[in-house]
Amino acid sequence: MGRERYDVIVIGAGVIGSALAMALAERRKRPLVVDIDLSGRLSSSEKNAGGVRATWWQPVNIALCRASIRYYETVASEVTFRQKGYLWLYDAEAWPKALDHLEVQRSLDHPIETLSAGEVHARVPEIDRLEGIAGATFSPRDGLINPNLLKNHYRERSRTLGAEYLDGVYIYAIQAEPGSQVKLECWRAEGPLSDSSLMRMMTQDGPGEAETGHLMDLRADAVVIAGGAWSSRVLELLGLRDFSEPIRRQISVVDNRDTNLAAYGMIVDTSGLYFHNEGPHILAGYSPPEEPPGYHFKYDGERFFQDEIWPRMYARMTCCERLRHVTGWAGLYSVTPDRSAIVGRAAPRVYEAHSFSGRGVMQSYGAAQALAGLIADGRYPDSLDAGALSRERFASGRMVREELHI
Ligand SMILES: Cc1cc2nc3c(=O)[nH]c(=O)nc-3n(C[C@H](O)[C@H](O)[C@H](O)COP(=O)(O)OP(=O)(O)OC[C@H]3O[C@@H](n4cnc5c(N)ncnc54)[C@H](O)[C@@H]3O)c2cc1C
Repeated sequence: MGRERYDVIVIGAGVIGSALAMALAERRKRPLVVDIDLSGRLSSSEKNAGGVRATWWQPVNIALCRASIRYYETVASEVTFRQKGYLWLYDAEAWPKALDHLEVQRSLDHPIETLSAGEVHARVPEIDRLEGIAGATFSPRDGLINPNLLKNHYRERSRTLGAEYLDGVYIYAIQAEPGSQVKLECWRAEGPLSDSSLMRMMTQDGPGEAETGHLMDLRADAVVIAGGAWSSRVLELLGLRDFSEPIRRQISVVDNRDTNLAAYGMIVDTSGLYFHNEGPHILAGYSPPEEPPGYHFKYDGERFFQDEIWPRMYARMTCCERLRHVTGWAGLYSVTPDRSAIVGRAAPRVYEAHSFSGRGVMQSYGAAQALAGLIADGRYPDSLDAGALSRERFASGRMVREELHI
């Protein structure tokens, strides 16, 4: 560790914290990013589906994703950004809502076309069971990215510009100090944390007696809370209200020798199932609506595949009859009442960027550039105003509601 006082300390080195480090360093703010586990074993950034789209309903969500997409296009080969589009199938109930939002999506310069069920089949012949498809949209500029390569890109570029990263650090107290500084009281692990120690700390209440570490203080002019689904714990240290809850989401990787979806990007079914080609396999996710909140990481394995994934895939594509479960995992969404992220100033010298639900990878660049502007210049960049995502919206009732595939 180089210093004990920094311009900005970012708590959390997931895709959001790493993107922030890059955006701050680009503005000549030298950030320190701290994380209990830089490798991200439990972080959502290591558990997601890699989908990138700007077809949201709210202008601020569209704008942040669109800014990200434009950036990913410039580093496409490095982060394997494949613009093969999002094909989204709607049932009769959802289709009018989708149509209602086309205008705002197009007005923000994000191309999107509509398709009939027959046109869906013509475009993706594997989709041969068309029952219940009232209409579909295809957005060609959207696609898939490798989230790990993206996070590494942010980290490498930020390091080049002077950012530092500190591993094995857990924040257990934050105080504003006289002289415009913020003091972070930290616990630092003596050595690598085992999987079981990390799981215990992150599903219960931080480091316990079983973990060996020492205490230390860090100081900065400003702090950013980018702790993903654990941001609520950090906010509590400041006596700030949290509005989000962690919710488990599961993904299965399946094998189907009869199908090759490599030509397509993300496909979202009327049933809520989403899937895309993943190397020799298919990656498929589904979010059961009844999932209870909590720090739950257990993947239900074969049972999840048999109950949730296979029936939906086979109901849409005959070629998926012989689908076989390979592996899978569970990670956390952090979800607010209106299902949009919280970005902005949380308290004097304290900023926040968390609760991105299923949108953190695709919003990481845009959200980080916006917030870094606010921190460095005192206002959002003209082209990227994230003011609608501030925590004040919950008190004022100016919600930023997203409904489909939050
Ligand atoms: C199954 C699934 C599918 C998804 N699919 C997509 C998708 O297709 N596209 C998309 O854009 N998004 C998707 N997401 C959402 C996306 O992964 C998240 O929104 C994003 O990764 C959040 O990034 P983050 O940096 O905020 O949080 P995280 O990646 O969770 O990082 C937070 C970090 O903070 C650290 N931390 C927390 N508290 C402390 C503390 N007190 N002290 C020290 N360190 C701390 C943690 O160790 C962690 O590394 C998906 C998520 C899941 C679970």
